Amino acid sequence: MALIVQKFGGSSVANVERIFNVAKIITDTYKEGNQVVVVLSAQGDTTDELKEKAKEINENPSRRELDVLLSTGEQISIALMAMAIEKLGFPVVSLTGWQAHIQSDSNYLNARIKNIMPDRIQNELARRNIVLVAGFQGINRFNDITTLGRGASDTTAVALAAKLGADLCQIYTDVDGVYTADPRIVKTAHKLDEITFDEMLELASLGAQVLHNRSVEMAKRFNVNLEVRSSLENKPGTIVKEVAKHMESTTISGVAKDDNVAVIALTHLKDVPGVAYKIFSLLATKKVNVDIILQSIGREDTKDITFTVTEDNVEIAKEVLTESQESLGFESMSIDTGVSKVSIVGSGMVNNPGIASQMFEALSSVGVNIHMISTSEIKVSVLINQSDSDRAVKAVHDKFFIK
Ligand code: ASP
Ligand code: MG
Repeated sequence: MALIVQKFGGSSVANVERIFNVAKIITDTYKEGNQVVVVLSAQGDTTDELKEKAKEINENPSRRELDVLLSTGEQISIALMAMAIEKLGFPVVSLTGWQAHIQSDSNYLNARIKNIMPDRIQNELARRNIVLVAGFQGINRFNDITTLGRGASDTTAVALAAKLGADLCQIYTDVDGVYTADPRIVKTAHKLDEITFDEMLELASLGAQVLHNRSVEMAKRFNVNLEVRSSLENKPGTIVKEVAKHMESTTISGVAKDDNVAVIALTHLKDVPGVAYKIFSLLATKKVNVDIILQSIGREDTKDITFTVTEDNVEIAKEVLTESQESLGFESMSIDTGVSKVSIVGSGMVNNPGIASQMFEALSSVGVNIHMISTSEIKVSVLINQSDSDRAVKAVHDKFFIK
């Protein structure tokens, strides 16, 4: 008997037929004698629709109340799924995040899980119940509802798998695994049997929307056995683990693009020590994550600093920087959201010189101009115009994967 955590995304539970399809997967796993804990997302586009609803009432609602609203989507899913499983004749119980004691910090809309008290879930499992837990939500120390950030049901699942010591954590989705590129953009993309945590982490944070990046971080930290697979077709998916088989043979495991990027450029900053520190510590206090940073060489005692943030952080970044314009001493700030980041990722890159140049060659062959470049041991990222991004991904993918 194994303890298995299964997570089903919004599209996998979008309608009655899909709910019963998932109920069958869950009960089949249970019938094999396993203990089954299931994490569900809100149906289809529910979370977006709830956000719209909020806007109709108040353009700027408090984050606390938004979380009260957004958390309802997942609560609907667990209740409906429990009813479907009851109908199939299996013992089941649904639990919200707070009933499952998923304790988070108080950063509403983007809270982090601090701890999970597993007693309730374990008691239910001991009674041989299938346990359904609402994804994406928790409770803070004030007993208030929090949500864990968009896409965070994956993280709920991995956190539960870690805490419960599950044998396997399966993330069921509408694709059958992790691909070498987004198959909707690149027809020649193919599924990977295995990928390392580090590669997956890069791909997730680079916009390959298969897994929430915090879920991969957590899976790596707690060494959770992770599998990404399809809820629509019963076939093996992609295993995410510490060391993957392909490591010696291939240099690149995937190409990703991220459209959720904005560039902020500050011009004519004073060319003195401490300026970069001031800018990025200000942003850090507002929890604005900065990605690629470019600083120009100083001239006439001034310099420019350009960096990227996610689009949803633009407003808050703009606000803190504008407030401090005088003390930072920059002349102008420009913001461009019409950019994308395209990246290649692979553990094999470290020992292979010339990978970056092959990527640049592919981009130049389709006439794509590069604005910024950043590299790490296992990735190369370029910032380009968003209108070029699909073309760029295709060209780069085929350069590495189609021989
Ligand atoms: N329903 C939430 C969202 O749409 C969480 C999730 O699906 O993982 O972001
Ligand atoms: Mg998701």
